[in-house]
Amino acid sequence: MFADELKFPAIDIKGIGSSYAKSLAKAGILTVADIIRYIPRSYENRKDSVPLSSVPNRREVNTVVEVIAHDFVGYGKKKTLKIFVRDATATGVLVCFGRNFLKDKMPVGKRFYLYGHFDFRYGELQSTQFDTEAYSDTPRNFGLILPVYPLSGNLKQNVLRKAVKAVLNTYLPSIDDQLPADLMRKYNFPSRKDAVNAVHFPGSIEEREKALRLLKYEELFFLQLSAVRRAFKYKKEKREVRDIPGGLMEKAVLALPFTLTPDQILVLKEIKNDMESGSPMYRLLQGDVGSGKTLVAFLAALFITEAGGQSAFMAPTELLARQHAENAARLLEPLGVRLAFLSGNIKSKQRGPLLKALEKGEIDLIIGTHALFTSDVAFKKLEFVIVDEQHKFGVLQRISLFNKGEKPDVLLMTATPIPRTITMTIFADLDVSVIKTVPAGRKPVITHLSRMGNEEKVYRAVGNELKKGHQAYFVYPRISSGSTAQESLKDAERMFRYLKNEIFPEYRTALIHSKIPDTEKIEIMDSFSRGEIKILAATSVVEVGVDVRNATCMVIEHAERFGLSALHQLRGRVGRGTEQAYAFLIYSENLSDSGKERLKVMMQYSDGFSISEEDLKIRGPGQLAGTRQSGFLKLNFADIIRDTDILHLARKDALSVLKTDPGFLSADNGVLREVLERCPPFEDDLLSSG
Ligand code: ADP
Ligand code: MG
Repeated sequence: MFADELKFPAIDIKGIGSSYAKSLAKAGILTVADIIRYIPRSYENRKDSVPLSSVPNRREVNTVVEVIAHDFVGYGKKKTLKIFVRDATATGVLVCFGRNFLKDKMPVGKRFYLYGHFDFRYGELQSTQFDTEAYSDTPRNFGLILPVYPLSGNLKQNVLRKAVKAVLNTYLPSIDDQLPADLMRKYNFPSRKDAVNAVHFPGSIEEREKALRLLKYEELFFLQLSAVRRAFKYKKEKREVRDIPGGLMEKAVLALPFTLTPDQILVLKEIKNDMESGSPMYRLLQGDVGSGKTLVAFLAALFITEAGGQSAFMAPTELLARQHAENAARLLEPLGVRLAFLSGNIKSKQRGPLLKALEKGEIDLIIGTHALFTSDVAFKKLEFVIVDEQHKFGVLQRISLFNKGEKPDVLLMTATPIPRTITMTIFADLDVSVIKTVPAGRKPVITHLSRMGNEEKVYRAVGNELKKGHQAYFVYPRISSGSTAQESLKDAERMFRYLKNEIFPEYRTALIHSKIPDTEKIEIMDSFSRGEIKILAATSVVEVGVDVRNATCMVIEHAERFGLSALHQLRGRVGRGTEQAYAFLIYSENLSDSGKERLKVMMQYSDGFSISEEDLKIRGPGQLAGTRQSGFLKLNFADIIRDTDILHLARKDALSVLKTDPGFLSADNGVLREVLERCPPFEDDLLSSG
């Protein structure tokens, strides 16, 4: 977005000492560019005159007053100065809490500019929050619209304003337009210099809106440009056309004890088309937990096996990877597919021969964890990479796996549905497959909401299911109570003992969470899936992927503490078989508004797409702009939910620019580089083209 000099540390700016630099850093402001991008939270209009007589219709007053008298109220330390002032319309009182020094600064008879919040109190027009400046022809902080910045630490408005002013004075000249001139004209945008200036010190509110529109548009335009270009590029990347008869896949389907859903069939067709085409596939497959994505991925791997290539399937946890490997063995080994499993826990005695076989091409499909992209893992002909729960992996990790093949086909899978606005932004909407239909015969999970204190009822309902031979999960927001115990918050360790000893002594219960060693975790999960362990007390480690069909109860205590996507994932752990399943959401007192909203959404919706849309609404645009956990789209000015109108324009323009000039986008473009830094999913574009 800015020239390199804008990366200079903020601490070097005149007027910012080291203690302020620290508070700036806390607010994420480290460089000159960060200061420029720090958007005011609101503005004080100190331009248009608002006389004292406007109160109470208006609360903010902006006027010129004369001091008419001083007075003190209270005694000793509480003694407080009152300054009586008047403008042409009325008399007001400035109550100077902690500012008795103003007596000398504002002597009777002198004139001042005054901006303040006024109320009628004790029969007077009073203000305790005000700012003044001696009247002159060239006021410093009056006669303009002043920015009000979000503050943190010991930061003060005036320091920030001074810092921004200083930075703008020095650096505005080096801020150049980044958009093509015809787009600047088309939308009648102000120059980028003027826009940056106007966001901080606008001449009018309209000017500020226009400025912001440019800055938002720029971000979205480059975001779209990069997404669209990537889509074009993948489409254009050449490789040999394949012919896939598909017989092996069909054989596997015939052996299934059920039929594929229409969406599964459609997605397999899409994948086959991609694989047969002369350019590599880069496809995102979305679908709720249990919608049958993994099965689709296995079947798609058969296309590659048939064509003589190798496939790699990467899962985010050892547990999941193993479960996938076991399912794959059942489905694929009868067809003669050569499978392997690799994780960090595979000992070198086994690992050595396995890696050799892989390199010699004697393995068709390898399933594993992060261990798959360690440097000693090599393939003979890696042609298909499947990444399960793709958002759990870093970009570099994904790329290092892709690079083990020669332009392999890539299938990214996610059970965290991404709202359409976002897929459009990131994947340019071109290569997204969706499984919406769930396998036939599955009953929706029945969800009950329960207040803490009524657990008895829930435990009784779970007891009934256990009696039928079914199994249950109990999930808690934390592992143990720790030392700074919030007594009222339940934790997995304590509740494990309680459930085991007090509530369900007749059933085998186990504890599972992230601090339990992998090997033990696996033993526990194996035993749970064999039905020996009946009850799992857990943290959200069971969130990802685990598939035990006989489990029909999901109890989430302190449900209000979980995010919507976690709640949805957790609920998806049950209801995977044909038996009726239940989710019990137990909430405690002190429900926040958003906590309440989330629970409502869980009661109202069962499909992940609606839930993710609702999630966006609850978290709101402001939150979304900073969605760290999703890793997407930390744009500075634009907000893809609130600014969809601009997003659509930007998308159309990006498409037409790239069509007429495919080489338009250079990685040197400042805005582009910044957008990519803020939106990690885009990095691979930059990296792979670099
Ligand atoms: P996902 O990866 O989307 O969570 P899976 O592929 O693991 O879903 O499928 C979940 C369960 O449903 C598996 O046990 C799978 O065998 C089964 N399954 C998949 N597709 C179907 C189908 N069309 N009909 C019935 N069961 C299916
Ligand atoms: Mg899955």
